[in-house]
Amino acid sequence: MLEETFLLDQLCGLKSNEVRLAVLGYPIKHSISPQLHTAALEVLALGDPAFACWNYRKIEVPPEHLSTALPRLVELGFCGLNLTIPHKVEVLPLLSGIDPQAEIMGAVNTLKWENNGWHGYNTDGFGLSFAIRNAFQKSMADFHVLVLGAGGAARAAVAQCLLEGCSRLALYNRSLARAHELSQTFLQNENHTSITVLDSPYDPFGENEQPLLVINATSLGLRTDDPAPIDLSVFAGHPYVYDMVYNPPETRLLAHAKDLECPHVNGLGMLVGQAARSLEIWTGREVSFDAMNQAALEALAN
Ligand code: NDP
Repeated sequence: MLEETFLLDQLCGLKSNEVRLAVLGYPIKHSISPQLHTAALEVLALGDPAFACWNYRKIEVPPEHLSTALPRLVELGFCGLNLTIPHKVEVLPLLSGIDPQAEIMGAVNTLKWENNGWHGYNTDGFGLSFAIRNAFQKSMADFHVLVLGAGGAARAAVAQCLLEGCSRLALYNRSLARAHELSQTFLQNENHTSITVLDSPYDPFGENEQPLLVINATSLGLRTDDPAPIDLSVFAGHPYVYDMVYNPPETRLLAHAKDLECPHVNGLGMLVGQAARSLEIWTGREVSFDAMNQAALEALAN
């Protein structure tokens, strides 16, 4: 069977006593998740030698093979998985249960084998919130927020803003219809936060007592020649800028934020936060964010 071959080809050298974790994606070569998790597992193993046999790999799984790969990975002893592009939404019908926060986000990035089925979680929103608190010493509720983008990452950002009680939220996306669709999904939110969809990039809130946080959740910036997704000079004040892109470490948007003396940070903290939360879900232990952060910096420098 093709599924069998492509999985086993990537899994040679499995040790018999391992507790197995992995990230699945397509493509997956670029992923630095194994380095982050290995570093944190090494710290856990210092306190409890049982963690010395936990092992985290990356496995390339094309979308058409996800449904056969998931049960096969259970047979091969995997008990925790991360999912990245393009699996985060497509996996939903294959789950036996879903965490309420992941349900709100409409996507999962973490699977745990529980009660004979894969249970889905989403730790991206936690990662974003952790990163913003860490970088700016503020919670998301301290801001009015403009989210750029309308894909999976933007949806996680919007859901996290609503979970934390942001009072005002705006969306801007290249494809306006997708931004409207996203805002419709959250129309009935519990705290009645108003969501404004912008048809062009402008300052949605103007001068205000509450600071503005601009979150780039588009893929613009991944390539070094990408333009910034918005011109920061349109804003009345000095917005805080969170760019989900972390490689390259300084996008055009962040370079402009630096020139304008806006508080700004790249997406590495979110990557670390979501990874740490996933490992906490699998291990039930507190995980070293510092070890993961250090490992991420080293992996990106290589
Ligand atoms: P999606 O493919 O789901 O969404 C991509 C978004 O980018 C869409 O809104 C799309 O707009 C927009 N976009 C793409 N190309 C352009 C362009 N040329 N001009 C303007 N807008 C564009 O991706 P995700 O939501 O999963 O990821 C978005 C970004 O977030 C990526 O850079 C990803 O690496 C990053 N990310 C970072 C994480 C972290 O831990 N730091 C975690 C998750 C994601 P349109 O709708 O018009 O196509």
